[in-house]
Amino acid sequence: MKEGKLIILVAPSGGGKSTLAKRLFDDFDQLRLSVSATTRAPREGEQDGVHYYFISHDEFQQRIDNNEFVEWEEFYNGTRYGTLQSDIENKIKSGYFILLDIEVKGAINIKKIFGEQCLSIFIQPPSLQVLEDRLKKRGTENDETLALRLERAKEELTYSDQFDRVIINDDLDTAYAKVKMLVSDFLK
Ligand code: 5GP
Repeated sequence: MKEGKLIILVAPSGGGKSTLAKRLFDDFDQLRLSVSATTRAPREGEQDGVHYYFISHDEFQQRIDNNEFVEWEEFYNGTRYGTLQSDIENKIKSGYFILLDIEVKGAINIKKIFGEQCLSIFIQPPSLQVLEDRLKKRGTENDETLALRLERAKEELTYSDQFDRVIINDDLDTAYAKVKMLVSDFLK
């Protein structure tokens, strides 16, 4: 894929990523989400082909064997997620820019593959304490999942220097203004 521009937004959970992504889609008409394939079950409200392509483990393996993924990762519980070459290609061919919402290792792989065609942005919480406070306030976690998410966030933070830009999310509006400017410059 010689043409096309990709943007990757990565943030430890509770980092405000989904709000930032939503605002980007509102502000940039030509931006489309890369729809990944996953072996996890759909959550309520999630639609096949819109949020993910929900496929079986066997089909995922077949697609790996057929080299259909640009990158893929398996999580500790065995769930797999992968970026489909065809999904990205079709959107680029249709003249769209791509936004990828993937975890940190996949993001670093995509950046390596696409180089200058790709802008990778890491949204960093001001501190782990702030992240913990935000997650508690959100009320979606129990003690165990909170501890897991914080542990994961801590690990993810160690990769931030491998991103093109790091934006500290102290205040969501300020962070968004910075993201918007970066994206706007990149897509020019
Ligand atoms: P969830 O199950 O909450 O939708 O996603 C779990 C994690 O998988 C999130 O961090 C999400 O960004 C990541 N993810 C989703 N799709 C992909 C993908 O195609 N590749 C990689 N590497 N990670 C993904």
